[in-house]
This record gives sequence, structure tokens and C-alpha cells, in this order.
Amino acid sequence: MIVAIDQNLCTGCRECAEVCPAYAIVGEQGQPQTIDVSKCVMCGQCVQKCKSYVSILTHGKDAYEKVKKERKIPDCVQEPLFAAHAVCNIDKVKAAIADPEKFTIVQCAPAVRVAVAEEFGADLGSLTPGKLAAALRAVGFDRIYDTNFPADVTIMEEGTELVKRVTEGGKLPMFTSCCPAWVKFMENNYPEFKDNLSSAKSPQQIGGAIFKTYGAQLENLDGSRIYSVSVMPCTCKEFECERPEMKDSGYRDVDVAITTRDLAWLIKDKQVDWDALEETEFDQPLGVYTGAGTIFGVTGGVMEAAIRTGYELITGQPIPDVEVTAVRGTEGFRTSVLKVGDLDLKVGVVTGLKNVVPVLEAVKNGTLDLHFIEVMTCPEGCVSGGGQPKLLMDLDREEAFAARREATFVHDRELPVRKSHESPAIKKVYEEFLEEPGSHIAHHLLHTEYCIG
Ligand code: SF4
Ligand code: SF4
Repeated sequence: MIVAIDQNLCTGCRECAEVCPAYAIVGEQGQPQTIDVSKCVMCGQCVQKCKSYVSILTHGKDAYEKVKKERKIPDCVQEPLFAAHAVCNIDKVKAAIADPEKFTIVQCAPAVRVAVAEEFGADLGSLTPGKLAAALRAVGFDRIYDTNFPADVTIMEEGTELVKRVTEGGKLPMFTSCCPAWVKFMENNYPEFKDNLSSAKSPQQIGGAIFKTYGAQLENLDGSRIYSVSVMPCTCKEFECERPEMKDSGYRDVDVAITTRDLAWLIKDKQVDWDALEETEFDQPLGVYTGAGTIFGVTGGVMEAAIRTGYELITGQPIPDVEVTAVRGTEGFRTSVLKVGDLDLKVGVVTGLKNVVPVLEAVKNGTLDLHFIEVMTCPEGCVSGGGQPKLLMDLDREEAFAARREATFVHDRELPVRKSHESPAIKKVYEEFLEEPGSHIAHHLLHTEYCIG
């Protein structure tokens, strides 16, 4: 179970069913709802929306503590617990940190650094990478790495794959594959598009595979001793790391995923004073990242990052403007034609999974002709993910998404390197380990074929 609805708490308001992009929530109005697991893509949007809860005030201490225990939520938590909820893996993380045989490496997704501070009373969309790194160190992880680094690797691999498909011929349109809920939706409903998916793994999985191989070499450790934890804005990332395909390093790429919300609970459980934390850096070399890596957190960001690199790979010239504003925005489906040398690159961005169905139907019936399509399940990409801090007031949603999006773009502008292929850390990992994008070893570790159909 990754996402579930507690039958004892659900009041049957069906607000969750309205936001479920997979029509997976079933039940009569006013009756407890259930999730059809054959349809659910584990995006957690129902978890974000649910308003039926248990608290000490409403149900008494015993009833509240019982729910907390069932869900393995740490003792320090005193806030209301909602009917729609996601699995909480904090106990596994704590056990790994306490185990002297395990070397724990943690990675944090781009969208976590623009949201986690909200759990400690900061303004919506506060950008806090330095405090985040400090908190992870205080919690006790051995290495503090960053998903933004493998996001840059994803661009090297996915960008090269796109250039190859466009210039040498290959299945088009190519779809991004870094949103596991989208991959699951395609698997459930449109398996005929399997070969259109980029074969590059998501940044989470690429990070895990690199940490247990190259990362193990850097530590002079056997990969079997590394316990890889990821902190994600996303409830579906735990499903992705459990996929049978995701173990090309010889070990499970990522051992466990927790959400932004879980991380805040873990920080509180470890009695770390967030406000008093001195900002620190992520560890080198696998925690160094570019602006391209960080914009993965917003809708259109993967596309923009890929274009920053793809343009220069195709033309051999610097891109005229590093900010590819043509692919930005929040509309559910938007397209642009970008001049890349002699090529008119036709791209599309989908955000909010319900919007992908007409796109797939149009590709199927030949009325939509694009080279590359980014698909993200959540309303505005990962900044609005199901594992982000819960917004109790619907009115706060748009404000929070806009603030987190703007903070992400500010972070991009502030970083010294903004294109993945220009990152010294990326050059180093290819020189010392991966050889070149699409090499045999890169293909073995960083690409996959989904067991669809
Ligand atoms: S996790 Fe997502 S797909 Fe599953 S029931 Fe909830 S909203 Fe629907
Ligand atoms: S958009 Fe991001 S947070 Fe939402 S399901 Fe996809 S990967 Fe997860």
C-alpha cells in the first residue's frame, strides 16, 4: 500500500475523487471511499485534498495515537492525520541511520528545497537549500547528495537520446520518463506508447545507481553497504524505487523514498531545531548541480533543461537565451516550435495527468506531430506533488505553487552554471566513470526498459 483511504475516517465527501487523475476513487457520496489499485497511479493528489481527519481534540488521545501507531508515524507528531494518506517509511530510515554496518546516502529532489521550510512556519515557497543540507546532516546521514546532480545526468542521457532520435531516426514523439505516476498511467492505459518513452531513468533512480557504484568507489566501500534514501515531493517515488527493473547496479538503486512531509517529521523526531540551523553545502562531488537540474521541479523544467543542452549539442553554438520561456507556463498542455539550427524542434508540455489523454489520442490519430513531450502528473509539476507540505486551505494552493515555482526560477538564476553539460561535476563523472552519454556503462546503469504490457 502506497496510498490508501482510512475507512474509519473517510466521510465520503468525494473531494478526492474530483482531483484523482486516474478515476481510481470509488464509493457512494457520504460513504467511505476506496481506491481501485488497478487504476491508481499513486500520485498522492487525494492525500493533498483530503479534509477528513482524526485529531486529539476531535477523537481523543487514544483514538489518535492508534492511527499514528498503525501508520508508523513518529511520536513527536501531534497534528491532525487525514483519511487519505501515504505510506510513512521514517522507521526504515531511522533503522538504517542507526545501523553501523550501513553507510547512508541521502538525495533531495529539486522541489523539496522550495517547500520543506513551510513545515517549520516559513512563508510559502521559501528557498532553503542550505538549511535542508544542514538538517539532513543533523539527522545523521553519512553523505548529503542531491537529486539535482542526477537530474543533470538525466539531461545528458535524455538530451543525447532525443538528438539521436531526431537526427538519426527513432520513435517520436519522445516522452519524458521522470514522473513515475505518468509512466504507470501509460502502462495501465496506453501501453502502445511504451517505445516512445525516453529510456533514461528518472533522476531519483539515476542517483541511486550512481551512488551504489561510483559513489561506493569514492568511499572505498562495497555497494552492498550503501543504503540509499531519497526525499521526494512525490508519493509515487516509493513505487518507482520498488520497481523490479530498478536494480542495474546489482543492488536496489534506491532503498527507500520518503516525502517532503516525512522529512519534516523526521527532523522534528530527531529534535533538530530548524530555525537554529546554520546553512551548509551538499557534499561533493555528487551534490553539485546546475540551474538546469533545479528547474526539473517545475512544469516545463525538464523540457527547458533538455533544450539548453540539446540546442548546443545539435548546433555546436551557445543557445541565444538560456531561459527558454516559450516552454514555461502553467496551462495543462502547451506547445512551441523552437529554432535549433536548421531544425524546427516541435515540443509539448503536459501538466496535470488528466490533460495527457487528449494529447495521446491526438498522437494516435495523427493530428498532433511533435518531437518531444514532457508529462508531469501533478497540477504544476513536482512543486505541487502529493508528498509536499499539505495545504489545508484550497485558497493557498495556487499561491503556494506560484511561490515555489518562482523560488525555483530564482535558484536557477543564482547558480553559477545553468546548463547540465557545462557542469564540472558532470564532466568529472563522465571522465572518471560513465565515459560518455549513451556509453555501454551509462546504458547499463542509467537506462531501463519498463516491463509494460
Ligand atoms: S494516489 Fe492519485 S491516482 Fe491514486 S487514488 Fe489518489 S489521486 Fe487517484
Ligand atoms: S509530477 Fe512530480 S511529484 Fe507529481 S507524480 Fe510526477 S514525479 Fe511525482
